[in-house]
Amino acid sequence: MALREEQIQRYSRQILLREVGGRGQEALLDGGVRVDVAETAGCTAAAYLAAAGSPLEASARALGPGAPGFLAPASAVGESAAELLARELPDFNPDAVPTAPPRAQLAELPAHFEGPAPWVALGARGGQGAVLFRGPTACAGCFARAAEALAAPPGGALGVALGALGALLLERLVLGQGPAAGLLLLEAPGVLRPGALPVCERCA
Ligand SMILES: [Zn+2]
Repeated sequence: MALREEQIQRYSRQILLREVGGRGQEALLDGGVRVDVAETAGCTAAAYLAAAGSPLEASARALGPGAPGFLAPASAVGESAAELLARELPDFNPDAVPTAPPRAQLAELPAHFEGPAPWVALGARGGQGAVLFRGPTACAGCFARAAEALAAPPGGALGVALGALGALLLERLVLGQGPAAGLLLLEAPGVLRPGALPVCERCA
């Protein structure tokens, strides 16, 4: 899919990034994401993905008190993420309205992952934010085992930072960049360290 003039203008900042470029922007516009989100971290990630041009399909999970932000108005609490996106996406970014099945998934833990990767999970461990991710070549079993050990993601400023990080990692995987799988722990906004990934029975 070639970029239209208004898309080149809308996405000019990320097209100028060497890691994205015109081809990468086309890949982001083509690669829809299923989002299973309800609170600050997930809704922030959804807003970043939609702003970057990724078509979003949402689950029926009801939005919680942390949802309002870039994408969700205060009145959205209690409605489903799917209802929110159907109403807000056409104005927020018409390119983010899905026209094909999603090819990636992002969810707030606890969540069930299935279907095509990349997968990105937003969670927490020991009071820190956690982003777990896997590309299409990495093991789904190892991902599931790591996800089981994580709690629901934090809210507040840490949740916003976690959501932005999760969206960025998902975009990198869609563009075929970065490691195939990993776990990043966010101690505070901007303070990141890698976490160890557990290994599933099949890979042990
Ligand atoms: Zn494995």
